[in-house]
Amino acid sequence: MSFAKAQDLIRLARLAATRRTGIGLDEICEEFGVSHRTAQRMTDALASDGYGLTENMEEADLVLLNTCHIREKAAEKVYSELGRIRKLKEERAVDGHELLIGVTGCVAQAEGREILRRAPAVDLVVGSQTYHRLPSVVQRARAGEKIVETDYAVEDKFEHLPQPARSVVRHRGVTAFLTVQEGCDKFCTFCVVPYTRGSEISRPVSQIVAEAERLAEAGVREVTLLGQNVNAWHGEGPSGKEWGLGELLFRLAEIPGLARLRYTTSHPRDMSDALIRAHRDLPQLMPYLHLPVQAGSDRILKAMNRKHTAEDYLRLIERIREARPDIALSGDFIVGFPGETDEDFDDTMRLIREVNYAQAFSFKYSPRPGTPGAGMSNHVAETVKDERLQELQALLTEQQRAFARSLVGTEMDVLVEKPGREAGQIVGRSPWLQPVVIDAELGDIGDIIRVRIGNAGSNSLFAESMNPHIPMREGLV
Ligand code: SAM
Ligand code: SF4
Repeated sequence: MSFAKAQDLIRLARLAATRRTGIGLDEICEEFGVSHRTAQRMTDALASDGYGLTENMEEADLVLLNTCHIREKAAEKVYSELGRIRKLKEERAVDGHELLIGVTGCVAQAEGREILRRAPAVDLVVGSQTYHRLPSVVQRARAGEKIVETDYAVEDKFEHLPQPARSVVRHRGVTAFLTVQEGCDKFCTFCVVPYTRGSEISRPVSQIVAEAERLAEAGVREVTLLGQNVNAWHGEGPSGKEWGLGELLFRLAEIPGLARLRYTTSHPRDMSDALIRAHRDLPQLMPYLHLPVQAGSDRILKAMNRKHTAEDYLRLIERIREARPDIALSGDFIVGFPGETDEDFDDTMRLIREVNYAQAFSFKYSPRPGTPGAGMSNHVAETVKDERLQELQALLTEQQRAFARSLVGTEMDVLVEKPGREAGQIVGRSPWLQPVVIDAELGDIGDIIRVRIGNAGSNSLFAESMNPHIPMREGLV
């Protein structure tokens, strides 16, 4: 994966839906990494009303602009995009066709009714907490009502999310995301999530297990549990005992057919003993952990309200590595948080050297409206942020390449996900999430095959083609 994401945090989504054929899904913007899942959720929610994805916005009956509130100018970008879609709506009206326009996601949550005032062509505004209400909102909008739905849902929004049909799951492939938790109560001073996504909500065990079983029955082999603060997930186990994510993973590992489990994104404060035990004892739990630290200076960590020190983080990594020695670490870093000095930045570089990451995302600090960080006085100059980001990314890239190189000559199990770009190739994932290119004759999509790595490219690994196909036992990788 690249670090380029850091520069480009705002992307707008166009989820265009037609009642005749299918919905067109362009780029979708979301908080890092869960974007596709949100699009899927909306698609699933609208499917029962006859909406499907269409590749072509021109034929859409409904265009949803899914938005991200990640930078100050996000709302302005949304308004200019709405101007373009309004023109399309007017052209369609001349032909006697209706085109509904909706704004969803974080900008919808933050701007609410203001969107209808500034862009009267918009029919519906649905906040990030209320996607499950989309079908009823769309129905009311079709009857001519203008709707703003941004109240945090008090009802169980997970319960109301329609499940995709088996054929749809199969079509999406052998890996799937499963949302187990939403929202965040941590209030890091740079982050907008607690304001736009609301407070932490955990999905009940029974729902999670049922959805995981359904996915496995439909042929999914790998499930990634999702949450803004996924390891803060907690719920009541079947015997009434309080469970954390560790206990939940032990339960999910019992589901036949689910060969691989992952979870993201975690907070260092919520790595419980049971979760570390799960890494030690569950072969299904992949040896890869995204555990953002953000900075290596205690002064900055305190100003960020991260509630842990650099030393706490390093000791935690030590314990996790003791439990699962082959685990690879990934992280998030912010450079240029208000008040960050050269010494603070050096502390971050030192921490990176000590941990040695296999993968990472890094960002220049950008003030998010309404967060305490935005109101701090000692902002760092952009030029300094640029220099620090470059230096930090050079180190992380070097570590990522060294990790990939260290795998050359080793054997590993790869879950085959899709055909390769070239004829005769298939592509799978290593336990550490790297794409692995393999000879097509060695396996089929959904197989877990053991290969020896012959070469490491900048983003992918290449398997030697000498290995026999070894179909793996269910549940073991
Ligand atoms: N919950 C996760 C955690 O605690 O680390 C991360 C969620 S956040 C949406 C994803 C990443 O975006 C963060 O880890 C942080 O590195 C980055 N990020 C969030 N707010 C930022 C800001 N104001 N400026 C730059 N990067 C930011
Ligand atoms: Fe944002 Fe911090 Fe919550 Fe992560 S833990 S979502 S960075 S407030």
